[in-house]
Amino acid sequence: MDWRQILVLLLIFVPLERLFPARSEQKMLRAHAFTDTVYLLVNSWVIRLLALALILPFLDFIDARAPRGVQDFVGGLPFAVQLPLAILVADLGFYLHHRLFHAVPALWRLHAVHHSIEELDWLAAHRIHPLDQLFSTGMSALPLYALGFSAEVMAAHALIFFLHSHLVHANTRLGFGPLDWLIASPRFHHWHHANAEDAHDRNFGGQLLIWDRLFGTLNLPADLPSHYGIDDPMPSTYPRQLAWPFLSQTRKQSA
Ligand SMILES: [Zn+2]
Ligand SMILES: [Zn+2]
Repeated sequence: MDWRQILVLLLIFVPLERLFPARSEQKMLRAHAFTDTVYLLVNSWVIRLLALALILPFLDFIDARAPRGVQDFVGGLPFAVQLPLAILVADLGFYLHHRLFHAVPALWRLHAVHHSIEELDWLAAHRIHPLDQLFSTGMSALPLYALGFSAEVMAAHALIFFLHSHLVHANTRLGFGPLDWLIASPRFHHWHHANAEDAHDRNFGGQLLIWDRLFGTLNLPADLPSHYGIDDPMPSTYPRQLAWPFLSQTRKQSA
């Protein structure tokens, strides 16, 4: 990841977690902070390489088959209309990707790396297996590309998603107040990470609660979970965590 992006994240989220913590006893240098820092520094480059090999070829495929009329219509909409529409469409892709990665055992092993976090904070947002991240980005961004959203809207969406994904993992009790019913808050995503039987396989949305409401997977208690993580033991280093989904036979989360 670019050092300027890291600087922006530090400037936003370190003070936020200090001033408005969800768990004030949690230390900044918590367990596995070093491993998650390796993710922060290395993972995005691994994902970019994978994207060049696996996502780029799809763009030609989409270009050859995309509905031109729809693209012209969507691309001609004003920025202020395109952006919320893009968030809605991308979040449906994210929801479907996420639900699939919880439902299919082989995919769950990749996604379990992200769920192995036991102390949530902004840095924890980076602990994602590159293949998991690649598919989630593909499922949210490729529909936007296929439907003809403008480059400015796609860039704005990527920036908002980048900041939002750190916020929902942050160790903060802040949320969106009266908009918590619509926009994914830290409380919403923290419940997704809860290690509690009745919280498993809920809250799949990345930015919105709309798709979880529609598909009956919303779980939003007023308090925060007491425990996060998974029951399966996860190795502690970056290379071992990347290899783990292919080497281990894990239990399904909800089993
Ligand atoms: Zn998940
Ligand atoms: Zn998460």
